[in-house]
Amino acid sequence: KSVMDKILRRRSLQLRDQQCAWQESPDGKKMLKFRRNLPAYKEKDRLLTAISQNQVVIISGETGCGKTTQIPQFILESEIESVRGAVCSILCTQPRRISAMSVSERVASERGEKLGESVGFKVRLEGMKGRDTRLLFCTTGILLRRLLVDRNLKGVTHVIVDEIHERGMNEDFLLIVLKDLLPRRPELKLILMSATLDAELFSSYFGGATIINIPGFTYPVRTHFLEYVLEMTGYRLTPYNQIDDYGQEKLWKMSKQAPRKRKSQIASAVEDTLKAANFNEYSSHTRESLTCWNPDCIGFNLIEYLLCYICEKERPGAVLVFMTGWDDINSLKDKLLANPILGDPFRVLLLTCHGSMASSEQRLIFDEPESGVRKIVLATNIAETSITINDVVFVIDCGKAKETSYDALNNTSCLLPSWISKVSAQQRRGRAGRVQPGECYHLYPRCVYDAFAEYQLPEILRTPLQSLCLQIKSLRLGSISEFLSRALQSPELLAVQNAIEYLKIIGALDRNEDLTVLGKYLAMLPMEPKLGKMLILGAIFNCLEPVLTIVAGLSVRDPFLAPMDKKDLAEAAKSQFSRDYSDHLALVRAFEGWKVAERDLAGYEYCWKNFLSAQSLKAVDSLRKEFCSLLKDTGLVDCNTSIYNGWGHDEHLVRAVICYGLYPGISSVVNNGRSFSLKTMEDGQVLLYSNSVNARESEIPYPWLVFNEKIKVNSVFLRDSTAISDSVLLLFGGSILQGDIDGHLKMMGGYLEFFMNPSVADLYQCLRRELDELIQN
Ligand code: ADP
Ligand code: MG
Repeated sequence: KSVMDKILRRRSLQLRDQQCAWQESPDGKKMLKFRRNLPAYKEKDRLLTAISQNQVVIISGETGCGKTTQIPQFILESEIESVRGAVCSILCTQPRRISAMSVSERVASERGEKLGESVGFKVRLEGMKGRDTRLLFCTTGILLRRLLVDRNLKGVTHVIVDEIHERGMNEDFLLIVLKDLLPRRPELKLILMSATLDAELFSSYFGGATIINIPGFTYPVRTHFLEYVLEMTGYRLTPYNQIDDYGQEKLWKMSKQAPRKRKSQIASAVEDTLKAANFNEYSSHTRESLTCWNPDCIGFNLIEYLLCYICEKERPGAVLVFMTGWDDINSLKDKLLANPILGDPFRVLLLTCHGSMASSEQRLIFDEPESGVRKIVLATNIAETSITINDVVFVIDCGKAKETSYDALNNTSCLLPSWISKVSAQQRRGRAGRVQPGECYHLYPRCVYDAFAEYQLPEILRTPLQSLCLQIKSLRLGSISEFLSRALQSPELLAVQNAIEYLKIIGALDRNEDLTVLGKYLAMLPMEPKLGKMLILGAIFNCLEPVLTIVAGLSVRDPFLAPMDKKDLAEAAKSQFSRDYSDHLALVRAFEGWKVAERDLAGYEYCWKNFLSAQSLKAVDSLRKEFCSLLKDTGLVDCNTSIYNGWGHDEHLVRAVICYGLYPGISSVVNNGRSFSLKTMEDGQVLLYSNSVNARESEIPYPWLVFNEKIKVNSVFLRDSTAISDSVLLLFGGSILQGDIDGHLKMMGGYLEFFMNPSVADLYQCLRRELDELIQN
């Protein structure tokens, strides 16, 4: 043992010498100077003392004060100082892959090292980590997976959970697990970091844990709401909201200086958008204003206008634009590049910042542009707290973010842009005041802001819990509802029951709520259970090629575009890919056609002609590979098999796999001559989204449709559907493949009674006889 101690001691001393040498070098000195100026650095001693004296410490501080990059480093440095450096193992979780990757790279470079030496990262399917890695940045999901095989986190000395204010589902889940773990591992340190001041909530959850607040400093930021922005463009709103003197003056300048032609262009653009957004109706200062005010419509024109205005008239400083999502960012970017001012690379450096950007692109965000060039960053809410761009002076905030919402009563969920909270709006505004006084333009009326919720609901309260329940089961954490009742904020009982019920129906849990074999495999696949099911069956039936395309296609934004003004053309283009009453198979054809066109370097032309999004298709392409390697991890696919082993072009088989995955999302089809109608068990009459290939048919020669999603607007609409036959439903719907034949037949009986479909009744009788015989033999 003492030999081991000696080796570790020597290694620690080596690490210490290395750091000293780096800090003496010119680059190292510069870096240290930058670090010393961060607010977190001034609290270093206080933080380290608190961590050494307490098992749990909660740290809050303004975004950008140095929590993520500095605090894990302080711990590492102090461990190295005290010659324990070679034994410590610090895990720091991030809610998103992109931040785990960019932060680890930053920290390594602050330490004058390459990534993978003492600092590393690990995210799904990617990582950089060496034998000497002592500080590992990983996603929350990675830590949860590690807990699966290592319940006590053996060897880990510190766990840092970052960005807890975001209240993501994984983070809330992790906190329950860690809370259970602490008594079993008394020497393990837990550090929670948050950007906002709701630290008390977390502190009381951990029995009154110590809170340390890092005082920050930001310059004042002048706030403008939509009223003011429209006023700038020559529009006046009713009710007329006060504009401060500064605003009046600016307005006056604008109207004198703006070229007449551009002004009228803007005016008509604004007019259109106001019409589209039903602007007149918003005047009542109520929550209703939220529903009739639609920033998606105003967004682009006003943003373009504002950016031009800032570039031409404002002082230097970077601009940060908060958009709802990746797709918005890309369309806006295209629009801006076509603008003579904003598309001019000698004047504007246009960058994007979102969860799926490449790491080379990430680095550019932090760089200072050449003088005279204005940096404009189009970002998702990732730039709200996880990534800090230092030189931002102007913020444009569209007021929405993509958020999943779940309605337990109707058991439906959707990922839609929704209004941010007041806290988020403040965060966004704060981004403008880091280096000097800033300006923030909120592209929504003041009264809409007033109606925002104070905080966003935690994810665990607004998303379906199926995947979470699977995780709880596979981590052997006991009864699902008992476990979830110990959460920071527990989800509704109904939501938990719905999730358990669903998992039983799809055969992932048995009657006693234990994981089935299928459930175990599903828990290994980090995706919605229905998608996991398709992959598993696709692997078993050796038709992965098309199934991977379908599953990847369902995980990205719909590759089939439907521009407002060319809806008909787009739908007609889509229906060319359909011969067999299936949106899913249409996607497979479109994708395969694109692959061929890509090979001939005609991918873009193909997309353009067929109203397809090249970006989505590319995402599908890379996701397919990702999913395939996930399947290899589970052992369901042989490591040597290529996914291109032909899909057998057995469409019936693929239909069966689709049905297996999407069940119980099923509706009956009733053809009545010139049209057909659809019914589901829960909703009665339902309709198809107009962009479904099936919506263009006058008749569907199959008795059933399976669908992946239903959305309630006024009526219930089905999105993406595939027609299937009786026998496919009987064999692949429900739990028959799990061997629960009785349950299956009972459920089918329920369907039959409900839909009163005589042809199925015959088939059912027939099948039942066969199955009975089978069982007896
Ligand atoms: P917090 O976690 O408190 O929000 P961070 O530790 O992420 O703050 O950031 C601290 C400072 O380091 C910020 O000023 C930020 O701009 C800077 N920074 C972070 N990452 C990078 C990077 N990759 N390149 C340059 N500067 C960075
Ligand atoms: Mg941070």
